Amino acid sequence: MRKYVIMGVPGSGKSSQGAMLAADLDLVHISVGDIFRWNVQHHTKLGAQVRRTMAAGALVDDDLVEGIVRERLTEHDWNYGFIIDGFPRNERQAEFFLESYDIDGVIHLDLPDSEVRRRVLARRLCSGCGMDYNLLASSPEVPGKCDVCGGELVTREDDTEEALAVRLREYHQKTNPVLDIFRRKEYVVNVDARGSKEEVQRDVRKLLGLPPYHPAG
Ligand code: ADP
Ligand code: ZN
Repeated sequence: MRKYVIMGVPGSGKSSQGAMLAADLDLVHISVGDIFRWNVQHHTKLGAQVRRTMAAGALVDDDLVEGIVRERLTEHDWNYGFIIDGFPRNERQAEFFLESYDIDGVIHLDLPDSEVRRRVLARRLCSGCGMDYNLLASSPEVPGKCDVCGGELVTREDDTEEALAVRLREYHQKTNPVLDIFRRKEYVVNVDARGSKEEVQRDVRKLLGLPPYHPAG
């Protein structure tokens, strides 16, 4: 059983690295941001509660987040473990988490703020299948359309200059202390997130002592 947390500033690649690791190791990938975005998209009650906070780039209320995480983790739908992305994001959430779960490692994707802006402002999401595009790395074949499903590519509501500035500030003020807590427990592996997806994944594996990554093709 493996239980990992993946952390890093916005745009550091938490969700792609988390998904790559999860697919290969048969882990369940739990993304709190994705859960919220799903709820916003589907106009649920929870979606209505978090939409404005998210769009502004601020952290959602702890009670709400903890409720969602508790509910998600009690599903116990994993055989081999999980990787959680977007939680914990402040000291209170970290305490809540450490009281209920023991973890095997924390992956810290390290990316300078200067690179964050460049990446995040070039990010587009498919409104159909959720596929992630970065216009810096690879443009879709038909501009504005998803290569996989043909859906329309949209900008995340919080991928604006303004909301990004708030997200970065929240991260440095509130989430950095969480990293310090995990560092003291010697859970953290530090990965340089500036490379390509494949390079970063390779380093993650190496540092966690996992079998090497074999990209397809
Ligand atoms: P990011 O790219 O900023 O890391 P995520 O997709 O992980 O984005 O999260 C998007 C938004 O969802 C956050 O800006 C915040 O509003 C909300 N959110 C996600 N996880 C948490 C959390 N653990 N605590 C509070 N708010 C959260
Ligand atoms: Zn698509």
